[in-house]
Amino acid sequence: MSQLPGLMLQATASHIPLMAEYAANLPLGGVVLTGRDITANRLRLDFPHQEIIVDPGDWRYSFSSPSQPFIAPSAPALFDVPMSDYVSELVDAGVNIVLSPSLTIRPNDFDAVTATLAACDVVMSEHFLPTIVVPHSMLGGFSGERLCKILRAFGRAVALIAVGESRVLQTADRLSHIRQLVREGLVSHLLSIDAVLASDALASGAAGASIGLTSSLRIPRAPRVSGPHSQGFYPGVFIRSLLEIRSPSVVADWFAGSSSAPSCQSCGSLAMIDLSLPEARAKIIAHNVHALADFAAECAGVPDAFLKEWVSQERLRALTAHPTGTSSQANLALRLLVAIDHGPAGDLLVPA
Ligand SMILES: [Zn+2]
Repeated sequence: MSQLPGLMLQATASHIPLMAEYAANLPLGGVVLTGRDITANRLRLDFPHQEIIVDPGDWRYSFSSPSQPFIAPSAPALFDVPMSDYVSELVDAGVNIVLSPSLTIRPNDFDAVTATLAACDVVMSEHFLPTIVVPHSMLGGFSGERLCKILRAFGRAVALIAVGESRVLQTADRLSHIRQLVREGLVSHLLSIDAVLASDALASGAAGASIGLTSSLRIPRAPRVSGPHSQGFYPGVFIRSLLEIRSPSVVADWFAGSSSAPSCQSCGSLAMIDLSLPEARAKIIAHNVHALADFAAECAGVPDAFLKEWVSQERLRALTAHPTGTSSQANLALRLLVAIDHGPAGDLLVPA
C-alpha cells in the first residue's frame, strides 16, 4: 500500500464544511487548505484521520522579488503575523505541515527562487515545508534544468506549485522535468494540479499531490492574470472514466446523443447536470469531493511497485475511451504523458 498522505484534495476555507462532512469516511490521505483565513481551532476535529497541510496562499496575490521573497512586514495587516507564530499555532492545533508563505516567481527570475529558498532555510521547524511557485515556462528547456540545479544545491525537499495562463502551456518537456524533480526527491509535494498530474506525481514517488477542488486551485494563474468570467461559469466535473475535470457544458457536448454518458451512483448522469438549478454549483463540488476521494482510494489501493504501470494504463484507457472519437479534446497532460510513456503508439493519439 502507498504511504500516507498520497493523493490529497486542496480547497479554500469555504469548502471545509463540505470536505469535513466526508472526512469521517474519506479514504483520502489528506487535505491541503489554502488561505491566510484558515484558522487552527477546528481543523483536527474536521479532519480527524487526515494529514493536514496549510498553505498561506500568498502566491495567489503577489510576485516575489530577490529582495522580498515573502510579503514585507509593511503589507496589509492580514499578512503581518510573524512566521514562527503562524506556524506554531497551526502545528499546536494538529496541522502536520505548514507551507512557506512564498510568492509567485516572475518568469526566469532565478534570483528570486534562490532568495525564497534562503528565506525558507532559516525556519527550522520540521513541520515547515519550503515552497516554490513558478510559471509553467520555468519548468521547460534550459530554465527547467537550471531550476533542477538550484533545488539540488538547496538540499531540502520542497513543495512545488506551477502557475500559468492556461493549461495549454504544458509541454512534454515540462512534464518530464516535473517527473525528474519528483523522482530525485527534490520536490516532495506537487500541489494545485488535476487528477492526471497528481496521480503521475504519486507514481513518480511524491509524498503528496493535491487536486484543486476549484479551477483556481487546479489550474492556478499568476497574480493579476484574470480567470474565467464568473458569469455563466461552472466548476468542472470530475469524470473518472476519462480522468477529466471539465465544465458541465463541454461534457454535455461530448456525450450528446451518446448512450454511454458517464454517471455517478450518488449524482446520476454527469452529462446532463441541470445548470438552471440554484444548487448546481454545490452539487458539482460535492460530486468532485466524493468522486476524487474514491479515485484517491483507488490509487492508494495499488501496491507501490505497480502504481507507475497502473497509472500509465489508466491514462491510456481514459484516452482511448474519449467520446469524441479522436483524442484531440482530451486533457493535454494526459495526451502528453501517454505519448511519453507509449512512444510511437502514444504519438498516434496526439494530433500534431
Ligand atoms: Zn457523484
